[in-house]
Amino acid sequence: MTPIIEPIDLFQLASGDRLAIQVYKFRGQNSGKKVYIQANLHGCEIVGNAVVHRLIEYLSDVPQEAIAGEIWIVPTCNPLATNQRGHFYATGGFHAYSGEDWNRIFWEYEPTKAALTHFVQQHFESSEGAIAQAYRGQILAAFKQELAKQERPCGVSVPELFRSKLQSLCLDADYLIDIHSSSNDGLDFTYYFPNRETEAGWLGFDYAILLEQGGDYAFDEAFLWPWIELEKAFTKAGRELRLPIDGFTLELGSGMKMCPESIARGLAGIKNYLAHRGILSTETPQPSQTKCLSSKNITRYRATVGGMVGDRLPLGSPVKTGEKLYEILSFNRQGKMPEVLTINSMIDGIVWDHAISESANQGEYVMSVLAIN
Ligand SMILES: [Zn+2]
Repeated sequence: MTPIIEPIDLFQLASGDRLAIQVYKFRGQNSGKKVYIQANLHGCEIVGNAVVHRLIEYLSDVPQEAIAGEIWIVPTCNPLATNQRGHFYATGGFHAYSGEDWNRIFWEYEPTKAALTHFVQQHFESSEGAIAQAYRGQILAAFKQELAKQERPCGVSVPELFRSKLQSLCLDADYLIDIHSSSNDGLDFTYYFPNRETEAGWLGFDYAILLEQGGDYAFDEAFLWPWIELEKAFTKAGRELRLPIDGFTLELGSGMKMCPESIARGLAGIKNYLAHRGILSTETPQPSQTKCLSSKNITRYRATVGGMVGDRLPLGSPVKTGEKLYEILSFNRQGKMPEVLTINSMIDGIVWDHAISESANQGEYVMSVLAIN
């Protein structure tokens, strides 16, 4: 089917140029859920652009009756960040002007405890559909008030302007997928949120990492956390509620790279998830053996002395407690010979991520290990 392609103006630069994004909307013949997929929120994490390109091509060859609901896709969703450079290096993980992490800026609906309790009392006997509709109405009404701030003469910041454009596209969605990569060198996996373990498995990765707490204002979290709070409030009042609303951040390989295996895995995972959710009928959803673990299972190693990192265990390697992870060549200004120090693993696990630089000041990130038991 042919998508509707809609350019969306973002904001104006000092030079007079305007930045824009573009959304590809695939509207199925049958009504159904809405899924929103974006790529490249962090400027250096480009792999998702290849994934969504292949998804757009795939969906363009699919008959309209094979899609139920809507699939909205936004490649290069943060042009300011994508185009940011320091010599050879893509540095757009952070907004250069304010220093803010581009994935910690999003607006989140945060009702008071009293408002949430009132909502639960009002809708305690309602159907899931009615609850979702009413709560979504509250989220969108609060977002409208947030948008109104832009009309004031004092204006809003660049991250606030930017987030309002992306969130205008997705706050009414049922499922949201935000495609990132490690900013360094990492394995492919997905993050997921509480009570959504079985859903994460349909994305087909070897590992899924649970984010147990809110409060980061990341894109997926700002979308999903209000719903998790609602489910918690219902549970507390005595009704188990699991709404079919979900959000994921996919992490596909390394920063500044588009690894073919990561692209293929990401694409296959998204297609499988869409089939599982009944949005895409061209695929038969396949269950997977995803290992779901807490983010607390990840130990980040930071350099205990300044120096040059060498002989790191390769990504994905198993490691046992006490075995060597890496060594660091450390110089001094005390009239002594240079030293090579060995750093051993504190846990059993696998090598999860490598810092892209093999030079580290004391306290800087070197690598991480995931405990898998
Ligand atoms: Zn990222």
